[in-house]
Amino acid sequence: MTLHLSRVFHPLTVTIFPSFCRLCGRALEDHEEKVICGRCLQQVDIHRGPVCPVCGRFYQKETAAGQVCGQCLQASPLLTRHRSLGPYTGRLKELILLFKYKGCEVLSWPLGRMVYENLAGDGIFTGLDCILPVPLHRKREKMRGFNQAELLGRSISRLSSLPLLRGVLVKTRNTPAQVSLEAAERETNLRGAFEVRKPALVKGQTVLLVDDVFTTGSTLRECSRVLGQSGALEVRALTLARAL
Ligand SMILES: [Zn+2]
Ligand SMILES: [Zn+2]
Repeated sequence: MTLHLSRVFHPLTVTIFPSFCRLCGRALEDHEEKVICGRCLQQVDIHRGPVCPVCGRFYQKETAAGQVCGQCLQASPLLTRHRSLGPYTGRLKELILLFKYKGCEVLSWPLGRMVYENLAGDGIFTGLDCILPVPLHRKREKMRGFNQAELLGRSISRLSSLPLLRGVLVKTRNTPAQVSLEAAERETNLRGAFEVRKPALVKGQTVLLVDDVFTTGSTLRECSRVLGQSGALEVRALTLARAL
């Protein structure tokens, strides 16, 4: 009945209260379009070329396909696999900024779906046990009103049918924003900032961390370290974008 009524009233609602794409200004016609039109979503620059099989670094040359990058060879990271949709530029960056800072939480659904549809084929979901959002400190989450990583994690959890574990990985220290720091400072800034509250839930598990932007990877590395200490078998990660 509800569905039927919404079908009947939908065109009327659109006529009386038209809404417009926040990026290009075009009127949203399809009821599936929320905040952003389908055309703008299609303009996201998804990296389809080769990547480092470990950290997901984007390679520009086809010849590099399958090669582990110098940094991963040196560091033998705890994070066994990370993938991003594309570079943190253009439409993807605009979408992430709307999602995080302009009250467009509803974008967690199309963004989460884009991640799942474009990156699931890479085998990153094979053998996974659960999804963990990268946590915000409770003060920052309260200020923002939500944790963007958790909303994304929820979309990916729905699509993959994997459980989303909330409140298991927590941020116990409110650190200065990573954006304001140099690469070396980012690592020390985060030391001891995260904690695993229910280690029994991650012990022996292959877990997937979800976050919005990968910059130097220090947040994901620190989260992986504490998860490893709590007995996680393997840590993988997905992010929307990678800062180049
Ligand atoms: Zn648009
Ligand atoms: Zn790498």
